Amino acid sequence: VREAGGNNISSLSATSHKALHRKSMIEKRLLLALDQKHLEVLYQPQFDLSKGKIIGVEALVRWEDEEIGVVSPDELIPIAEETGLINNIGSFVIEKACKQAVEWFKKGLDLKISINLSVHEFRDKNMAKTILNTLSKTGCPAHLIQIEITEKFALEAEAEANIIKQMRLLENEGIVFILDDFGTGYASFRYMQLLPIEILKIDHTFIHSLMMSEKNQKLVNGIVQFGKSMNITVLAEGVETEEQREVLKNYGCDLIQGYLISKPVNVKEIENIVS
Ligand code: C2E
Ligand code: CA
Ligand code: CA
Ligand code: CA
Repeated sequence: VREAGGNNISSLSATSHKALHRKSMIEKRLLLALDQKHLEVLYQPQFDLSKGKIIGVEALVRWEDEEIGVVSPDELIPIAEETGLINNIGSFVIEKACKQAVEWFKKGLDLKISINLSVHEFRDKNMAKTILNTLSKTGCPAHLIQIEITEKFALEAEAEANIIKQMRLLENEGIVFILDDFGTGYASFRYMQLLPIEILKIDHTFIHSLMMSEKNQKLVNGIVQFGKSMNITVLAEGVETEEQREVLKNYGCDLIQGYLISKPVNVKEIENIVS
């Protein structure tokens, strides 16, 4: 079959062959990197608009491989989800974050750390247990850890029931859940209804288009008011300009995160920013 535009079979398969090769290369190197703890974590500040200060950070995984070079999370996470290595990344980031939270706590820095976990990671029936074990092993108080969950796909009823059970367990221990990418996910409102969510994170796409039209502003304002009526903290991600910050503050948005405050940075830089 020939495609319009002149792509023939051999050039198409050459492309997919290359993609397959890269994927298996990433898989192989990732195993090694996890084994040797070659992954890193950067932290991006979360800023409280009424307090006027940074109250927490989001942990974001980073990987630069000797052979492949930098592999962005947007490439890494889907491959890790497909191969099951996502659970290893999850454990790595959770442990790193818990240790860091304790270190900051001891230094008198009052910073919560948010960790990204996809609902896929909660398919692991031991997820909640793993997290609670890591908390006690590292001596990390539960209130210092928050979990950002994403909802890229629909879940079967059984998986959904299992996730709710695990989240309730963690919630009882004092862990706060943030619903990430609100508005773009598969079932934002359904998850708001079902899951113990305390913070709603407005997806960056809505923030980027905020100043482009009145319609976009009404949409974001609507999400903020919805959060308020549900007694939920509203966090906007991808805030890059003063103008966006002002508009969000006027709507009553609680927290912002984005390049305006800081890009994701290492531990030292976070300490410099907050002290
Ligand atoms: P996310 O959770 O929505 O994270 C926000 C992404 O937006 C991050 O990209 C961050 O660097 C970027 N960002 C922050 N502020 C701004 C801004 O003002 N403007 C723009 N244009 N971008 C901004 P990053 O670090 O490349 O991560 C991409 C995605 O990968 C994350 O999206 C998250 O879903 C996933 N991810 C990252 N680390 C982990 C992890 O440890 N575990 C899991 N499961 N997923 C992770
Ligand atoms: Ca996130
Ligand atoms: Ca997000
Ligand atoms: Ca995202």
